[in-house]
Amino acid sequence: MSFEYDNQNIFAKILRGEIPNKTVLETEYSLAFLDIQPQAPVHILVIPKGLYVTYDHFAQDASDAEIADFTRCVGEVCRQYGLEKNGFRLIANAGHDGVQDVPHLHVHVLAGRRLGRMIESASQ
Ligand code: AMP
Repeated sequence: MSFEYDNQNIFAKILRGEIPNKTVLETEYSLAFLDIQPQAPVHILVIPKGLYVTYDHFAQDASDAEIADFTRCVGEVCRQYGLEKNGFRLIANAGHDGVQDVPHLHVHVLAGRRLGRMIESASQ
């Protein structure tokens, strides 16, 4: 399967330093920053620096080092924010049905309040 990456997406611009972000953590292959429109008291996005559209793209084409770094970056963000205490939710939207707005892989880390059911309405 081949995935087409759009170089003009907003996270590509963040990675190129063309627009600012509020960085939480930067590692060799990953970047974590605050979501601009937080949906919970803690809302952080973790992205790989590599140009991957979706989680399955990343799983298919990223190196073991990138995958390990990304996974550990998510874990380190959770640790920094003390999320082991009350918990958190990870979301990675993909494509049309996943309602992905920005076509660069990102994991949402959501926490800080009880988040409600995972999917609000099956009919939406
Ligand atoms: P998704 O719908 O899963 O693609 O989520 C995209 C997320 O990116 C949304 O939660 C937006 O609020 C967030 N977002 C869009 N632009 C920016 C930006 N410049 N800095 C930080 N977060 C952003």
